[in-house]
Amino acid sequence: YTSKRLSSAYCEYHPSMNDNAAEKVNIISLLKHALYHQEFRLWYQPIIRLSDNRIYGVEALIRWPRPDGSYFSPSVFIPIAEQTALINKMTTWVLTQITKDLLYFDSIGLALCIHVNLSAKDLQDPNIIEQCVSLLENNQSSQKIMFEITESAMMINVEQAKKAMDRIAMAGGKFSIDDFGTGFSSLEMLRDLPVTQIKIDRSFINNIHHQDADLAIVKSVIYLATHLNYSVVAEGIEHADTAELIQSLGSHLAQGYFFAKPMPKSELSQILQLPLSSIS
Ligand code: C2E
Ligand code: MG
Ligand code: MG
Ligand code: MG
Repeated sequence: YTSKRLSSAYCEYHPSMNDNAAEKVNIISLLKHALYHQEFRLWYQPIIRLSDNRIYGVEALIRWPRPDGSYFSPSVFIPIAEQTALINKMTTWVLTQITKDLLYFDSIGLALCIHVNLSAKDLQDPNIIEQCVSLLENNQSSQKIMFEITESAMMINVEQAKKAMDRIAMAGGKFSIDDFGTGFSSLEMLRDLPVTQIKIDRSFINNIHHQDADLAIVKSVIYLATHLNYSVVAEGIEHADTAELIQSLGSHLAQGYFFAKPMPKSELSQILQLPLSSIS
């Protein structure tokens, strides 16, 4: 690019860009309001053990209801929150909610692995790290805790991420690499960080029957994970044949709308006893 071209690009008027900036500011102020007024909810999506189609664990996913009963998409507001320190406040809210929900899961007779998403900024915040540690140390329930972090979040500052993760792992926390395959992979990271699980991103899963490349990637990731002694979760399973194929390739865990969508914890108790593929 010539500098002329760059400068003319800067001078051009993009109404959509302005709208996005204004909308971002607007979302940030709405998020602050929502935090203050306790508007967030924590929903849970089952993660299924493919050998018997029963629940191995649940992933905690934040929900932000709109006044009309619909929900804002976390894929929109989480990345915006992640640009500010708001994400840390939201994570604090999530961890506090999890603390209460651990006891709820006990009360309905569940013993699960509870997956909690952490953002890059969370690994840089000593307060959040200590909250994770105290969640683990004070956990008297039958529930185990797994933290999900994306590759990209780990790679922003590997040394700092390793320090934070080691501290949490010392307290008994486990780590899963979320959306695996979509970030900047580094085999060094797999070797050096205290990780015990890989979640294969759903973008590789959906077309696995039709895309040879996706099949090759999924096979290779399962092979790599298995030989590192990690467990594997296939994300975004929407069809029975995908679940079958994934299992035949050696993935023991799966998550997706085919089995169950994210739901409030009260609904979780209703589906407990059932092998999940029979109810969807
Ligand atoms: P994620 O951690 O990869 O979570 C999985 C996302 O995939 C969830 O979207 C889930 O509803 C969706 N999903 C699950 N199964 C299927 C399927 O079969 N098909 C399709 N199309 N989607 C499926 P959700 O809840 O909208 O969250 C989006 C992202 O927002 C999450 O991706 C995560 O990165 C972030 N997020 C959500 N809750 C939290 C949170 O409490 N803290 C942080 N830091 N991030 C969160
Ligand atoms: Mg996740
Ligand atoms: Mg994911
Ligand atoms: Mg994701």
